[in-house]
Amino acid sequence: MKYRKLWSMLLAASFILCSCGNDSGQTTQENIESIENAESISADEQEAVFTYDYEQRLNVIDDNYRNYYEIFVYSFYDTDGDGIGDLNGVIEKLDYVQEMGFNGIWLMPIMPSPTYHKYDVTNYCDISAEYGSLEDFQRLLEESHKRGIRVVIDFVMNHSSSGHPWFVEACNYLKELPEGTEPDLEKCPYVDYYHFAREQVNSSYYRVGASEWYYEGVFVSEMPDLNLSSEAVKEEFRNIAKFWIDMGVDGFRMDAVAHFEESDTSYNAQVLNEFFGYCTSLNPDFYMVSEAWVNDTMIAQYYESKTPSFFNFGVASAEGKLVKAARGKYKAASFVKAMLSYQDTLSAIYDGYIDAPFIANHDMARVSNMLRNDANDMKMACGLLMTMNGSPYVYYGEEIGLPSSGTKDENKRLPMIWSDKDTTGTTKGPKNADYGITSSFAGVEEQMADAGSILNYYKRAVRLRNENPEIARGEIQVIEALCIEHQAVITKTYEDSTIAIVYNTSDETIEVVLNDAAVEGMTIRGYLTLNGEVVELNDDKLMMPAQSICILK
Ligand code: CA
Repeated sequence: MKYRKLWSMLLAASFILCSCGNDSGQTTQENIESIENAESISADEQEAVFTYDYEQRLNVIDDNYRNYYEIFVYSFYDTDGDGIGDLNGVIEKLDYVQEMGFNGIWLMPIMPSPTYHKYDVTNYCDISAEYGSLEDFQRLLEESHKRGIRVVIDFVMNHSSSGHPWFVEACNYLKELPEGTEPDLEKCPYVDYYHFAREQVNSSYYRVGASEWYYEGVFVSEMPDLNLSSEAVKEEFRNIAKFWIDMGVDGFRMDAVAHFEESDTSYNAQVLNEFFGYCTSLNPDFYMVSEAWVNDTMIAQYYESKTPSFFNFGVASAEGKLVKAARGKYKAASFVKAMLSYQDTLSAIYDGYIDAPFIANHDMARVSNMLRNDANDMKMACGLLMTMNGSPYVYYGEEIGLPSSGTKDENKRLPMIWSDKDTTGTTKGPKNADYGITSSFAGVEEQMADAGSILNYYKRAVRLRNENPEIARGEIQVIEALCIEHQAVITKTYEDSTIAIVYNTSDETIEVVLNDAAVEGMTIRGYLTLNGEVVELNDDKLMMPAQSICILK
């Protein structure tokens, strides 16, 4: 509500500015009427306020630099009325994904599992019955590829479900084994698939029934850790990878790679390197993005694996650089210098790296929660994300300010709101989610029709990436002389083409004088402003409204 009110005030303000700034001969009386009518302005007139003359032709390169949309199928869109999202629901919404400018989707786990989140798999070569069938998935791949959207699936190799036949057989064998007898791998090869021991090595080991055996389960007892040093396990995962890659999957999102062996980065990187090598032997364009939830220094070490992407946890979450910069708690000048430093560190280790920045994912509070439903700050965070290098990831619902609540995982994975009026396809969400968490913002349908919505800001921000390949791929240079506090200017050069990005993360309009040789003579190519404000360039003076970003070329 607060947001809508502000919107009306802004409309009124823009009318004053418009009429003062031209010689249309409007009388004072007419001005007053415009202001008084501001509350009841029609959709056409709203559109008119959002003048934007800088839309460029799309220039989308078909490589592994993409704009990804993370989908939790369970809470996304339901097509068969059981309240659980499904693969057909994802297919139904591919046009939406495409319209938003995303050209990649990451599906959280889709394989059979006893849990709603499905991060504990019981069969690595099938689709969860709740979500649909392998045929549905094949259709999803075809429909995605038709729209230029690549499909990345979650790949959970660190552990299986305790209900996986491998684990069940191994436990049954060990329970029957006479005390003190060594397991015979010929009789039960699955004993080698997990970390079994005769003693409780540490507190993450659990007893196998009443036997003398224990197994490792770092997350929970229902998620036994797999032994990724076992040749047999490696062979299983090669076959599983082949199954999905042959079907047409474009990439894997590798879950929990820092836990393959606890705190053994070089071992974990080696596992990824070998596995990725196998995947690219089947498809040279195959993509991989891994979740190593560790600090920047350790993420850099993970790039020794020579696998394409690791999530950039340093910019994510409430304490990350994106949210802090959006709140004005971290200066734009520092933000761009950190980007440059990250680029320099990573490219020295692996020059094929593709950064994977994001604001929040399914394990974190949502951005609406982190930024206390301040739509302006949420837009600013999006703008900062969408001007970063690499492949940005947007968590479903982020674009409409979907809420989260507290620390409970289920509350971070609530049903997508497609419309405020029409409940078609609405999911019931995770069973243990708290009841009554409501959104401060409208649904997709309503935000689509509102030029000032968070959704339309996301849409334009993604479009800027699709117009300017330099944003994702360009080599960063920081224009030191123009980086002052909440103002920052960088250039990005990709294949002989250089653009500049100008940031104003403050709450004031600022004038940036483009008197540095690196940006002299450039013109506006596109921009992002909060609520339709205009960025203007007069000679070398760039007027940047509060919390705005401008692309120059
Ligand atoms: Ca369903």
